Amino acid sequence: MRMIFLGPPGSGKGTQAKKLVEKYGLAHIATGDILRKAITDKTGLGLNAKKFMDAGELVPDEIILGIIKEELTGAGGGFIFDGFPRTLAQAEGLDGILSELGLNLDYVISLKVADDAIIDRLVSRRLCKNCGFEFNLKTRPPKVEGICDRCGSELFQRPDDTVEVIDNRLSVYREKTEPVEDYYRKKRILVEIDGGKGFDKVFGSITEMVGARE
Ligand code: AMP
Repeated sequence: MRMIFLGPPGSGKGTQAKKLVEKYGLAHIATGDILRKAITDKTGLGLNAKKFMDAGELVPDEIILGIIKEELTGAGGGFIFDGFPRTLAQAEGLDGILSELGLNLDYVISLKVADDAIIDRLVSRRLCKNCGFEFNLKTRPPKVEGICDRCGSELFQRPDDTVEVIDNRLSVYREKTEPVEDYYRKKRILVEIDGGKGFDKVFGSITEMVGARE
């Protein structure tokens, strides 16, 4: 199974992708996670990407397509792209890479969530520094403030989860990534799912859709 998850920041695509990866045994290719790791490891890629990410802007297409090519080479099995492609150039670049590797996409899922719900979700999001588990101060608070329930490490807030940067990330999504939805709509592989319903219901809609097509 090879799929893409589209959806604005805070639509829940990362959390849903992680659960699907577990259920179906797929590779999880999240460009945002790969870039954040590069920043932590202080690699050239990280140094290059940081200024774009801190401002809520997109990292240049050539850099992203380079990462994807590396991730896919040798990963013949199933995968979920989370946060990629975010521009038409990336979607077209991906088509080229997939055809070189003789692979096809099965689904492109677009999660729909209203802007006010997104802002609300992102400003209260907290992540574990160690295991990456995601909490929400309003809907899924940790048992002990600032500490991960799973592994006991410290929680942090992403530097781009502030109201100003979130506003910019949403405008960038509308301008650059919504055309990607049209691109896959025209290819008839886009499936739109209401992402505002709560985690279990959204997960149920996705697995039902996948099951119905298998
Ligand atoms: P995310 O974790 O998906 O919310 O991504 C965080 C940030 O990483 C974005 O705001 C961008 O700056 C950068 N980023 C992640 N994926 C991409 C991509 N496919 N194209 C360009 N920039 C990206």
